[in-house]
Amino acid sequence: MRIEILNTGTELLLGSTANTHGTWIGQQLVKWGLRVQRQMTVPDGVAIEEALREASNRCDVVIVTGGLGPTSDDITREATAKVLGVELIEDEAALRSLKDFFAKRSRVMADSNLKQAEVLVGSDVLPNKNGTAPGIYAPPRLGGEPTCGIFLLPGPPRELYPMFHDEVLPRLKALAGVENISQVKELKFVGIGESDFHESLDEALAQIADLEIGYCARLGEVDLRLIGTEESIAAGRQLADDNFGEFLVSDDGRNLETIVVHALTKAGKRLSTVESCTGGLIANRITDVAGSSEVFTHGFVTYSNAAKSQLIGVSEETLRVHGAVSEEVAHEMAAGALCESGADIAVSVTGIAGPGGGNEEKPVGTVCIGLATKAGVKTFKEIHPRNRLDFKRQVSQRALDLVRRELGV
Ligand code: ATP
Repeated sequence: MRIEILNTGTELLLGSTANTHGTWIGQQLVKWGLRVQRQMTVPDGVAIEEALREASNRCDVVIVTGGLGPTSDDITREATAKVLGVELIEDEAALRSLKDFFAKRSRVMADSNLKQAEVLVGSDVLPNKNGTAPGIYAPPRLGGEPTCGIFLLPGPPRELYPMFHDEVLPRLKALAGVENISQVKELKFVGIGESDFHESLDEALAQIADLEIGYCARLGEVDLRLIGTEESIAAGRQLADDNFGEFLVSDDGRNLETIVVHALTKAGKRLSTVESCTGGLIANRITDVAGSSEVFTHGFVTYSNAAKSQLIGVSEETLRVHGAVSEEVAHEMAAGALCESGADIAVSVTGIAGPGGGNEEKPVGTVCIGLATKAGVKTFKEIHPRNRLDFKRQVSQRALDLVRRELGV
């Protein structure tokens, strides 16, 4: 089924509002194996009619967002009526719910709001739980023109999102004959890159019948998207698991920090972090996850040498002999954090984010990571030559991944 999105709103093109509807709708559709073919953004005004005419001749469903408000620039209804060649009429139920909306808030309804109760002849009215403008669905006119279904949805996300779930998705699924959600799976891998897949898996995955694959690479992780039948997705997953199982972090959209927090919770263990070059980023990512207060004890940010000694007892001699960026210091940082916090696992990072501060022995991008548990301390030395922010992100990714591995998930 060919689906297009038409976002309306001058503010989207001026850059004053980020156009997030396309991304959000795309994410909802892909879970059901449905795809957005094209997205257009047009300013308020005549461009809406023109774009809708074009899109409705090209695809099976157009989802239009915005322009259902009461002001003079909200003309999506009128433009659609022209494209379909139908009248707008006042809908009794829509008018009642509009009046109710204002009455419940003890507000007087302006005359300009009356136009929000107007709907296209022959269309379904989509109730709006969180605002005044109902949505509208003009079904495809079989045998007539256009043969495409048109949804008109309000712009504000708090109105659009529930309406999309309650009113749009069920209709789209019925139109496309989609019954279950198992047709898309996203596997998240940490610690390997897209090219690793190309080298070892791409061809084998391509041999699986009825399976479409896609990759999305981000810093320090790559998502493998499998779209197909239940059997083909299971076969694809098995293959990815056999090749890269140790890097597979989740198959349900959870990110690395969420996996770590959930694993700590399940194991009944607590974590503390001690960070130099990442400046608290690891702690920040952990505390982004709901429930982290149960498993996260301390986040030390020991940026200076003095802080490393004062807060977690790194010896001044170790700092002097080996330098702040050394496995010896990472070792003492992790051991010190474990001891000070009473946590079960402590992870430490100390590195050179750049652009200055590197030398031949320890170039920019060098990082030493320590992982302490009651069983002892392990250290790792790596080089990630990236810009400052990417370096911080990459190091936080490595540290979290080492904790994940320590937890055996
Ligand atoms: P209203 O009754 O508020 O006028 P409307 O249906 O006419 O609703 P718009 O006026 O186009 O919708 O947009 C209202 C608000 O919704 C915008 O100011 C913006 O905050 C948000 N919005 C609209 N379109 C988008 C979009 N594509 N992405 C993200 N937010 C959007």
